[in-house]
Amino acid sequence: MTHPLLQNLSTKLADIDAQGLRRKRLSAESPCQPHLVVDGKPLLAFNSNDYLGLAAHPKVVEALKEGASLYGAGSGASHLISGHFQSHARLEEKLASMLSPHLESARALYFCTGYMANLGILSALADSAQGDITVFSESLNHASLIDGIRLSRSAVQLYPHCDTQTLNEQLKACTSQTKVVVTDSVFSMDGDIAPVRELLALCEQHGAWLVVDDAHGFGVLGDTGCGILEHLNLRSPNLIYMGTLGKAAGVGGAFVAAHDTFIDWMVQRSRPYIYTTAAAPALAHALLTSLRIIMGDEGKARRAHLNELIQQFSTAPIPEGWSRLPSRTAIQPIIIGSNADVLKASADLQTQGLWITAIRAPTVPVGTARLRITLSAAHTTADVAQLVKALVSGGPA
Ligand SMILES: *Cc1c(COP(=O)(O)O)cnc(C)c1O
Repeated sequence: MTHPLLQNLSTKLADIDAQGLRRKRLSAESPCQPHLVVDGKPLLAFNSNDYLGLAAHPKVVEALKEGASLYGAGSGASHLISGHFQSHARLEEKLASMLSPHLESARALYFCTGYMANLGILSALADSAQGDITVFSESLNHASLIDGIRLSRSAVQLYPHCDTQTLNEQLKACTSQTKVVVTDSVFSMDGDIAPVRELLALCEQHGAWLVVDDAHGFGVLGDTGCGILEHLNLRSPNLIYMGTLGKAAGVGGAFVAAHDTFIDWMVQRSRPYIYTTAAAPALAHALLTSLRIIMGDEGKARRAHLNELIQQFSTAPIPEGWSRLPSRTAIQPIIIGSNADVLKASADLQTQGLWITAIRAPTVPVGTARLRITLSAAHTTADVAQLVKALVSGGPA
């Protein structure tokens, strides 16, 4: 006899299939780079977040090997027990110095993932406010921010996408002692950039914190790749910054940069920081090399090349019936609409040798299923030309 729970799940899974919402994983057999082998088939990929092409960069890979020789394979414990290594400490120092032009008394804290960093920030804020807190959340925020807000059990108010006017009214009416505005910098499924300067001005005006999730900005935006705050030349004592290190930085993990006192509080109280085994110290060692590349001439050249590719792709024709979003970043989505149509488009592209994942609800709103095309400095202009050609020949029937 099948357990009733499993029967129930089978029914639900069949329903997911019927709606065209089944998610599948393919297995890559080569490093993360534009030309790779997936389930035995060579494909040209436009779906990773490896914006600078550092995930398979020889110097970063070499540093990872060196890190393993120096520190071994695993950390063996959480940071507060015995899992905090010299490479973690150096990485945090480097990140703090990168963000110091933008924050007051900057200090950084390395997390295993961005998901955990976001849970960590929001729960630490709520823990300090003892219930007297309201979080204002941008409606297109990443799932990890939404889950962080849920975990924190804070009161929450959504504000419409990039709508600073509504946010201003909400902040004005709020009587909570602690007010926190939370936003992605670059929206992960749309590619547009939040009005961070205006948001920060509102936060300063209303004594609110601004939590900026720069998962898609760190490494890519700003003259030295320092992210959205450098890009917009912002500095404020009201900022709490989160950057991820598994996207443009090519390795893994994430960090929070904020005032020394807030970071100290997180070390004491942030459960997603405390109750987990520290990421392998070799990763932190590899990240130091990756940051050196990001901040140096090579990083600058890679960003310049990426911007050329963005220009090339965003001005190219796409089939009638499909639409673009106004993005000037490496995230260049094409809205198809229905689940069935986006699955067909993705499958057609795959027969043409291209790997672009279909993004559907609940990751994006129902009816806005899309091809989330991401560009990387590791692509060539010929790769992008091939993509454009395949898209044009594969439009709606
Ligand atoms: C990817 C992402 C995260 C999560 O970071 P991970 O390191 O992958 O866990 C958080 N926020 C946004 C906006 C993201 O795109």
